[in-house]
Amino acid sequence: MNRTVKTRTAKAAIYEAPNTPFKVKEYPLRPVKPGEVLVRIRMSTICRSDIHSYEGRRPNPCPGILGHEIIGTIEEIGKGVETDMRGDPLKVGDRITWTEYFYDGACYYRDILDMPQKCHGVRKYGHDHIDEDPHLLGGFAEYCYIVPGTWILKLPDDLSDEEATPLNCGVATMVSVTEAAAIGVGDAVVVQGLGLLGLYGVALAKSRGARLVIGLDSVPDRLHMAKRFGADLVVDVGKSKPADVVKQVRAACRPDGADAVIEVCGVPDVIPHGLEMLRIGGRYVLGGLVNPGADVTIDANVLVKRWITMRGIHNYHPRHLIQALDFVMANRARFPFKEVVDSKFSLSDLDTAFKRAAERSVLRAAIVP
Ligand SMILES: [Zn+2]
Repeated sequence: MNRTVKTRTAKAAIYEAPNTPFKVKEYPLRPVKPGEVLVRIRMSTICRSDIHSYEGRRPNPCPGILGHEIIGTIEEIGKGVETDMRGDPLKVGDRITWTEYFYDGACYYRDILDMPQKCHGVRKYGHDHIDEDPHLLGGFAEYCYIVPGTWILKLPDDLSDEEATPLNCGVATMVSVTEAAAIGVGDAVVVQGLGLLGLYGVALAKSRGARLVIGLDSVPDRLHMAKRFGADLVVDVGKSKPADVVKQVRAACRPDGADAVIEVCGVPDVIPHGLEMLRIGGRYVLGGLVNPGADVTIDANVLVKRWITMRGIHNYHPRHLIQALDFVMANRARFPFKEVVDSKFSLSDLDTAFKRAAERSVLRAAIVP
């Protein structure tokens, strides 16, 4: 008797090379191994770094599946996975988010310095070659394997997919950035760039107790949205000379400039202006310059004489994912998080979604496979 074993498969939109159309293909779904979880993807959003990869500005293995801002429903749980990172039991059918990165093994950075997000050999979802098992490790697909060395977090039922999907990259990163900027009660804070990171940065700064938050961008919709995310003042940097923007910001941050400036626009040229906005002893945190070649000239004497602390932040600690969720849950009536994901596309429409996201005609494009 000839019994055919039917292999389950899942669709994925494949990134074959920079600047070429995505191709939807099928890949086999195998049973989970110990420590793994298989999720059916509910939603993935296009992060600015996906666009950087797609446009060839940062190296990413091809062919592969892009997308790391993902949420999904558990379909299979491997042996040994019993609870999420907070200790809540996990079962098939649970809706979850997870750290955008994973690393399984001993590492000096994780074990000694408590920087798991910077382990040598850390890997990220949406950054792998499709040919390697388990193939499905990115967001723009029907399924994703969550592999050992990932922190999983269960999502509360009343949180919408739109509010939940940006948690594991955008929101958690901004928890990390605003923590590094040591934003506290009474601070005056400037946010350079009001994309998704900037908007959450504004809201987080307000909820950390900032008395004044100033948002800078040149896209009118974003300036308007920043107001709704808690910005006290927004400045259209496309309409004034940098020196005038600095003047306006310093005048608003009495008596002598901002306590903290956060860069999340990805443009190195804004750094000298950001430095000029700070008071003596101010803090400058860079979060947006994720591509190599972000050269800029600054007068380092300013750092010395004005006691400036300058710091870069990349990725986030697992605790920031929990904080991101708790922050969104606690503030969803205060800020319009629901409106951040403002467009939805199917897997076969990924090209259009990337085009819209790249030209910034949408704030966060979501893929619903
Ligand atoms: Zn991202």
